[in-house]
Amino acid sequence: MKITFLGTGVSVPFEKRAQSSILVESEARILVDVGPGALLRLEELGVEPTQIDAVCLTHNHLDHNGDLLNLLKARWLMDGDELEIYAPKGTKNFLESMLNAYPYLRGKLRFRTNEESVFKIGDMKVSTIPTIHSIESRAYIFENALAISGDTRAFPELMSVDCEIMVHELSLPFGFKADFHTTPENLKDCLNYCRAKKIYLTHLYPMTLAQKDKILEFLDFEAIVAEDLMSFEL
Ligand SMILES: [Zn+2]
Ligand SMILES: [Zn+2]
Repeated sequence: MKITFLGTGVSVPFEKRAQSSILVESEARILVDVGPGALLRLEELGVEPTQIDAVCLTHNHLDHNGDLLNLLKARWLMDGDELEIYAPKGTKNFLESMLNAYPYLRGKLRFRTNEESVFKIGDMKVSTIPTIHSIESRAYIFENALAISGDTRAFPELMSVDCEIMVHELSLPFGFKADFHTTPENLKDCLNYCRAKKIYLTHLYPMTLAQKDKILEFLDFEAIVAEDLMSFEL
C-alpha cells in the first residue's frame, strides 16, 4: 500500500498547501477526501481523474469535499466509469442538493453513494469510526494497517485502533480551547493509547504550524508533520 498526501492544508491558504486529500494506492486507487487542490496534485503525480476507483469522504466540510464535483465533472468529460463514494450518512442528500445547485450536471455525473460503516474496496477491508467533529464525520481504517482521522478531537477509541500508521489532524495550537479539533495537549493525552508506530500530523492551521518544532518535542513520539506530495509505503 502506498500513501501520498495530496493536500495537508486547511481553508486558509498557507505554504502552498492544498486542502485535505490523501491518495491510497493498493490494487485500487482511493482518495480519502477531495479538498480544493486535490485534482491539481493528482495531475502533478500523473494520475488521471478516471484512474480513481473510489472516494472515502470523512465529512462534508468544504475543505474536504471541495474538489469532489470537479473530479466527477472531469470524469464525465473524460468518459470515466461510475465512481464509488463511501461517505457518512447524509452524503447522498448532500450530493443531491449539489445537483440542484448545478442542474447542468444532472444526468452527467456518474457516481454511487455508499453510507455503510464497514465495507470492502476490491479485497481491501475498510472500517470506520465516528469522530468528534461539528458535523457527522468519520475516520477510516484500511486493513488494520492505516488509520486516517479526518477532522476530530483526539479520543482514545480512535487512537487505540489496530494499525501501523496513524494519520491524525492537529488543527489548533497550544492552549486553544477546542471541542471539535485536536490540540497538542489533547493529542498528547491520547498518545498513551496509540498502537501505531508512527503518526503523521496534518490539517495544521498556520498558527499551529508556527509551533511545529515545539509540538514535536512536546509529543515525544515518532511523529512527522506531513507535507503535500510526501509519501510512504506500508
Ligand atoms: Zn471539518
Ligand atoms: Zn477540515
